[in-house]
Amino acid sequence: VTPAVVFQKLQRAYGPRGWWPITRAGKTSPEYRPDHYKPATRREATEIAVGAILTQNTSWSNVEKGLAALHEIGGVDFPKIRRMPAARLQKLIRPTGYFIQKAKKLKYFAQHVRLRGDVLAWLRKTPLNELRQDLLSIHGVGPETADSIMLYAGGRATFVVDTYTKRIGSRLGWYPAKSPYDDVKNFWIQRLPESVRVYNECHALLVELAKRACHTKPDCGACPLRRGCPVGREI
Ligand code: SF4
Repeated sequence: VTPAVVFQKLQRAYGPRGWWPITRAGKTSPEYRPDHYKPATRREATEIAVGAILTQNTSWSNVEKGLAALHEIGGVDFPKIRRMPAARLQKLIRPTGYFIQKAKKLKYFAQHVRLRGDVLAWLRKTPLNELRQDLLSIHGVGPETADSIMLYAGGRATFVVDTYTKRIGSRLGWYPAKSPYDDVKNFWIQRLPESVRVYNECHALLVELAKRACHTKPDCGACPLRRGCPVGREI
């Protein structure tokens, strides 16, 4: 199989994932929105960027608790995050774990946004490589967070790699599980059509596959890729 075939099979098996989940006005928890690939508003881009930082080393259900706490005090908003005392921000995002470091990261990010002006214009209009370098220069933003913010908050054509992308690709025999981030990213980008929709869905579908079947101990019987996978064929 190839990345394009994997994408097709997963799409057929699981359908559109609707990433990145967004909290609708007046609600406090984010919802998935299939077939929506560009954040339309500053509020949406802000929530996605904040969520991408909060999701580091934790599950999405914990991120939802942190986002809900921020929404309860009037919304996820960079000027508010900048002005808020650090201790209060830490308390609100406590359910997401590593809350002291994450509060610091959010404050650095909010400060950076102030220097860049409008968050949506910055994420949507800055040339791709320049934007990635700019994001990587912010304390607490590594390659996965930078690419998540670019793809999901900015609607930019970049591919997100995580532990699941490495695990699944290595089981399919494409690269070692410990390959560097950019090698894995380039592998997928070179083999998929250049498209925000495809990159958006493909990353989300790989996460779904890892949750449903390609666990640490794989459940290949439940996997739509089994016939094309050397590990699946052996079991
Ligand atoms: S067949 Fe098994 S090892 Fe291969 S991708 Fe599917 S779950 Fe993972």
